[in-house]
Amino acid sequence: MSGNGENNPFKIAQQQINDCADILKLNQGTREVLLNPMREFHVSFPVRMDDGTTRVFQGFRVQYNDAKGPTKGGIRFHPDETIDTVRALSAWMTWKCAMLDLPLGGGKGGVICNPKELSPHELERVSRGYIRAIAPFIGPETDIPAPDVYTNPQVMAWMVDEYSSIVGRNQFGVITGKPLPLGGSSGRGDATARGGMYTLREAAKVVGLDLSKATVAIQGYGNAGSYAASLAESMFQSKIVAVCDSRGAVSRKDGISPSKVAEHKQNTSTVLNLEGAENMTPDELLTMDVDVLVLAALENSITERNADQIKAKIIVELANGPTTPEADEILYKKGIHVIPDFLCNAGGVTVSYFEMVQNFYMFYWEEEEIHERLDKRMTRAYHQVIQTSEKLKINMRKAAYAVSVGRVVEAMKLRGWV
Ligand code: GLU
Repeated sequence: MSGNGENNPFKIAQQQINDCADILKLNQGTREVLLNPMREFHVSFPVRMDDGTTRVFQGFRVQYNDAKGPTKGGIRFHPDETIDTVRALSAWMTWKCAMLDLPLGGGKGGVICNPKELSPHELERVSRGYIRAIAPFIGPETDIPAPDVYTNPQVMAWMVDEYSSIVGRNQFGVITGKPLPLGGSSGRGDATARGGMYTLREAAKVVGLDLSKATVAIQGYGNAGSYAASLAESMFQSKIVAVCDSRGAVSRKDGISPSKVAEHKQNTSTVLNLEGAENMTPDELLTMDVDVLVLAALENSITERNADQIKAKIIVELANGPTTPEADEILYKKGIHVIPDFLCNAGGVTVSYFEMVQNFYMFYWEEEEIHERLDKRMTRAYHQVIQTSEKLKINMRKAAYAVSVGRVVEAMKLRGWV
């Protein structure tokens, strides 16, 4: 994450908003509302460590824009977290929710910490401490957090428990991505990857790619990347030829079995040295000659530095902000079909929205019903974006912006803000 220096994600997010405002010919006031977060909270909170000492952690929660409904978005635990990263991510959540026509605005949270260096009890106390610090500003009808980088359903369970004890009653609807026995939704676990696969299926039709014969490289092997590997195999019979995590990459021409990678990573905590595969660097993975490149790591993976070396036909952006605007133009000129992040990875927040609805109604749907509803929304959103891209002759990201920002602006106008 490069919150302050080159490729500052919030500068990029603002540049994207400005480009979109030009396309939509928005007036200055509207542009300014879109360029600024509505509310942000900076908190520091004490945590008792296992050795008896106290450490103070810093966290943020940004509620970017709530014109279309309560703000929604995940919480990241990362040592390099910065306010600008959280601002950018909360802006992208705003466009993401609008993209899928969810009655929600966008928000994001982050805590500066390295979960890999915390014991399970310390992780629990950090999770609870952060929720105590932001509790006055969140709620099922105001701002609803969820998992993101290095947070998971167990962390959500501690958070919902802490919030419930603060308000004095169970409030499952305050957080999504919870475990199933605590009001979680079936289908939430693989929702981000699955939603991305639905858009890949549609993109392959447009590009004329037979996914059953396609080769796939996957950058990042967390929740989104690992599910993407197994779903690309089970849904399309595509061949996964390379995967990587933060420590390195492995490739194998004849294909890598996602279940073997999962087992290997479970035992060694990395994909490196996978039996029968060759080690390589994550940078080499990005420029491999494959049909589909899945970006499921962090921001700024494809920049003007490496964009012209990309050989994939379709880029599936499961991460948030993996491609810079300069790189976007290079890829567009090369004819590479990019499924932009806040369209491609919107499956997670879409099933989070289904989770909220189920929590409100106290009535839970079968997994099949979740998949069907998700497929319908992702497919519709993909076609709205490709049609806009073709009509306005702009790249897929700019088209996604035009659709989403247009919807947010419409809501702001109706409310009398602009
Ligand atoms: N963190 C996920 C995202 O970036 C999901 C957010 C949510 O479910 O609210 O889309």
